[in-house]
Amino acid sequence: MEDIFADIIERAKSLDPVNSRKWFDKLAAVEMDGGALIIGCPDDATVQFLRDNCGSNFTRAAQQVTGHLISVDFCVDHSERKAASVRSEEGLKLHPDYTFDNFVVGPSNRLAHASCVAVSQSLGTTYNPLFLYGSSGLGKTHLLHAVCYTARRQLEGAVIQFLSCEEFVNRFIRAIEKGNLAGFQSQFRTVDALVIDDVQFLREREQSQEEFFHTFNALYNNNKQIILSADSAPGKIPSLEERLISRFNWGLVSRIDPPSYETRVAIVQKKAHLRGFNIGDEIAEYIARKVHANIRELEGALTSIYAVSMTTGEEITLELAQRALDGQMRLAARHISITDIIEVVTTHFDVRLADLQSKRRSQSITEPRQICMYLARNLTKHSLEEIGGHLGGRDHTTVMHACSKIGDVARKDPNMHAMLTELTRRVTETSPV
Ligand code: ADP
Ligand code: MG
Repeated sequence: MEDIFADIIERAKSLDPVNSRKWFDKLAAVEMDGGALIIGCPDDATVQFLRDNCGSNFTRAAQQVTGHLISVDFCVDHSERKAASVRSEEGLKLHPDYTFDNFVVGPSNRLAHASCVAVSQSLGTTYNPLFLYGSSGLGKTHLLHAVCYTARRQLEGAVIQFLSCEEFVNRFIRAIEKGNLAGFQSQFRTVDALVIDDVQFLREREQSQEEFFHTFNALYNNNKQIILSADSAPGKIPSLEERLISRFNWGLVSRIDPPSYETRVAIVQKKAHLRGFNIGDEIAEYIARKVHANIRELEGALTSIYAVSMTTGEEITLELAQRALDGQMRLAARHISITDIIEVVTTHFDVRLADLQSKRRSQSITEPRQICMYLARNLTKHSLEEIGGHLGGRDHTTVMHACSKIGDVARKDPNMHAMLTELTRRVTETSPV
């Protein structure tokens, strides 16, 4: 059993280099139960991460290795559970890699990092609110997760709400639709810390801004911690109410800049190490020279290199790194349009564009329509409004609903996950370079 399990882990790693991690080796097979392999993990966050991101690949790996039609699920392995492991509240999903330990500090993010550490040590008393800003892919979400992770260890039983701004808006809209505003308000006004990622999405949502304003005041007046992130400074977020801008400036506003070359090299080394492979300085330096704007792309570069090495069985050399990055850059240069997505989806489901744009609401039409919206949201830079416009003039809330619905289904249903992966592959293959 142990040998087979080790093979399954190896296979899962090679099938999914994006999510593959060194700590996969520490997972344990807990039981085989009626065709389902249950894998034990150290904590809830890991279970959640693996379920959301790796379920279908582990299942595929298990089937390939054993030759049987088995499914895979994850659970917390109590026998392995350490005393220090934290209880996670319902709904607080933290990425197991996004900790302070895994965050590389350099001149570009030193202040942001220090303020996050300080806040995580004593919620509500150091900097309130804490406002982080910087362009995409520079580590804001990572730091927010790390704060929550540490604060929870620090403060037994602390109630922390962490959500994206879109989720906040979504929940607010749903509460209004259901006539349950009071429930919504008590949910957010009674926490020890409220963490909202990407608050720039509050723009042009007047009602949500109003609600957020009252939530903010209630928390602030009770010395509860508020932590926010955005892509620009409070005053630079278009159509954000003046009173919110001024409140965001009450505490500490920290900027994150693009990392220097030395920091990039250190980040590449760290990320490689997290995935369980070491790359020489020469290769780390090569990647850091090639990719500079964005740390997410640095990781993408590593993933491509890892994937090439996995599929060809070659050692990671400078030459292999160069080959892999050339391929990745060609892919990044592709321009994906909504039309490409619609083309792939209509072909796959054998429906017509006119059906997607029509008012028809049968399942056979609704599902492909929602999948188009979901893919367009994830693969293009179009706004919710523009996406709705392409699909029969639907408004942004419909698109938002479709995206969260398909996302939810994909997290639970490996078939949907696999289908989305396949459709994404086709879209990226067919779109022009
Ligand atoms: P943002 O929210 O600012 O768009 P993220 O927090 O999602 O960016 O970061 C993108 C990726 O880069 C994540 O995988 C994150 O772990 C990584 N990252 C960003 N900054 C650092 C850092 N200083 N050290 C290690 N990893 C980092
Ligand atoms: Mg982010």
